Amino acid sequence: MTTDNSKYEKMLTTLIEEAKKNLSKVDEALLIKAFNYSLEAHKDDIRASGEPYIVHPYSVAMIILEEFPVDDITIASALLHDVVEDTDIKIDFIKKEFGKEVAEIVDGVTKISGIFRGQEINKAENYSKFLLSIVKDIRVIFVKFADRLHNMRTLEFVNPDKQRRISLETLEVYAPLAHRFGLGRIKWELEDLAFKYLNREAYEEIARKLQTKRKDREAYIKKFTAPIIEELDKLNIKYEISGRPKHLYSIYLKMIKRNKPFEEIYDLFAVRIIIDSDNPTICYTVYGIINLIYSPIPSRFKDYIAIPKVNNYQSIHMTVYGPEGRRVEVQIRTRKMHEVAEKGFAAHWKYKENRTNIDKELENWVNWIREIFENTTNKDDARKELIENFKLNLYQNEVFVYTPKGDLKRLPVGSTPVDFAFEIHSKIGHHCIGAKVNGKIVPLDTPLKTGDQVEILTSKNHHPNKNWLNFVKTSKAKSEIRKWLNAEEQEIIQKGKEIWERKTKKLKLNFSNEDLMRIIHTHKYDNSRQFFKAIAQGSLNVDEILTAKKTKEEKDKQNDLDFNKFADIARGEVGGILIDGKKSSILYDYAKCCNPIPGDPVIGYITIGEGIKIHRKNCVNLINLSSIDPSKLVAVQWPETDSNLFVAGILIRGNDRPGLVRDISHSIVTYRNTNIRTFNISSNSPIFEGKISLYVQNLEHLNGIIERLKKIKEVTFVERFENEL
Ligand code: MN
Repeated sequence: MTTDNSKYEKMLTTLIEEAKKNLSKVDEALLIKAFNYSLEAHKDDIRASGEPYIVHPYSVAMIILEEFPVDDITIASALLHDVVEDTDIKIDFIKKEFGKEVAEIVDGVTKISGIFRGQEINKAENYSKFLLSIVKDIRVIFVKFADRLHNMRTLEFVNPDKQRRISLETLEVYAPLAHRFGLGRIKWELEDLAFKYLNREAYEEIARKLQTKRKDREAYIKKFTAPIIEELDKLNIKYEISGRPKHLYSIYLKMIKRNKPFEEIYDLFAVRIIIDSDNPTICYTVYGIINLIYSPIPSRFKDYIAIPKVNNYQSIHMTVYGPEGRRVEVQIRTRKMHEVAEKGFAAHWKYKENRTNIDKELENWVNWIREIFENTTNKDDARKELIENFKLNLYQNEVFVYTPKGDLKRLPVGSTPVDFAFEIHSKIGHHCIGAKVNGKIVPLDTPLKTGDQVEILTSKNHHPNKNWLNFVKTSKAKSEIRKWLNAEEQEIIQKGKEIWERKTKKLKLNFSNEDLMRIIHTHKYDNSRQFFKAIAQGSLNVDEILTAKKTKEEKDKQNDLDFNKFADIARGEVGGILIDGKKSSILYDYAKCCNPIPGDPVIGYITIGEGIKIHRKNCVNLINLSSIDPSKLVAVQWPETDSNLFVAGILIRGNDRPGLVRDISHSIVTYRNTNIRTFNISSNSPIFEGKISLYVQNLEHLNGIIERLKKIKEVTFVERFENEL
């Protein structure tokens, strides 16, 4: 036990020493507490290697100090990363003891492990959970990668099935993610370790061949670098020059892809020159020196210093013919660029002046994810889109294209001139009408290729159209187009509404909501938005609707007037109403709601201030009025005009014209004091149809009226109508 204790003490001392070496500020007490806490929590656990479990969290913490020296919080989190997952300790306890930040990182690592387990990562939901947890705190991903790296380094102790499963997962999920985060060194170590367990034969063969070739290789590299070193020393440039280690897995992939033996692939030598200066121009000086010594292969020159890769990788890549005509790949970069290439985000963290850069990069991630979620209404769609975009960004394939001024733009593969236009400025995108690629006019959906020079043609009157959504690739273009389409539709609807309101106002027409909905449905629109849109776009003739309505209103008004006039005459003809069977001086008036005319069964209702109102007996108002006081009803009758009267019906049709109803009623009531019982008019422009019931003495009386009506101008049809009216 004493041996163990002193061993643990030594581990802790080493950890704190390394932390002080690599971090700008170390909370020693926090690290001691986390270490001892983890030691205690895992005291009953043993690793597959037979070692005490604490070796694992300790190693993970050490990897972080070496690879991602971010801060002491991350180290404490690394020490505690398996505590919640493997023991009974709850996250709340961690929070209480170590603070919110540590607790959130430990929680994040625990959750990510769950997400990654098995093939679950292929499910969209897990991707989004995963991404959201990353954007919450990037330190979660550092701990997770360190955890995985240590597990891979100690994978020999687990059974072959588990070795395979973990290796596959590492190759398919962790390595591409490490690449995305710019963790170059971690990526290749993970790949080589996974390769070892997935294809041990190939791995060992390549490793063996590398070993036997090592001496030759080193000798050649020495020969190659000697003249370069001489020149660099002359110029007093500080550098580190090395034969770049080739990763076994990448050699293997090349052998497979190009179907060539190891020897041919490995014929390509690789040298890396790291400049001990922050001044990138020195890289170009070195590039110039090498160009003077060896002949370069121009097509193999890549300047990632001027145009960094999406994961911030910067370097100059060149290939030259070295001694004996053998091709040598050379990478030139500054120390800082090298750290970024190997350690990604963590390196940014170390170079504090670049803090804004990581913040910006992180912000881009957050915005990207937010954009996807906000622009889709359906959660499943959002997830699908997220996966697609994630794949797109992860297995990044990009094209580099130029503006007419020579500025470079980076776009996802398959991007079109429209994507490019929005990339330059949303205004350019909005007014984009055409595009020239390398001077030639092309369709807007043409996929762009690296090196294309793209010029966007704009027109102030041109706007995004729906069809663009079928081919644009960038989420920026997509969301801008959608935004515009929504706004455009809103504007069109508003315009249609204004036209409608202006015209109805001009014609002094009033539409109730019900009227409007009836019209909308008559014209087969689902809602008012569609209706107003149709008006604005001119696909619906609003004047026709309004004219019909106006004509109808005028006719109704005229009919009312005609009827009132007719009713007055008819009532006068019979000599007014009898109250309680006799002529009376009591004030009375005819109710406007049912407009009784001679012949209608009537009843009186005593009102305050307006005397007796005469209603038809079947008047809806009178029947329905709940406030009707039965004691206020009085019996009233029309005077008997003649005995032996009977009701007859007449159907009359004609071409509608103002005053027609008046002429008809006048014609009837002035013929032998005929009383009209009812008069129903239906006018379906331009045809007029009326059903009249009236009191006649005999057939001759009725025929006389029919003959009279036939003579009225625009009346085309008059006939006796037998049905009950
Ligand atoms: Mn672990």
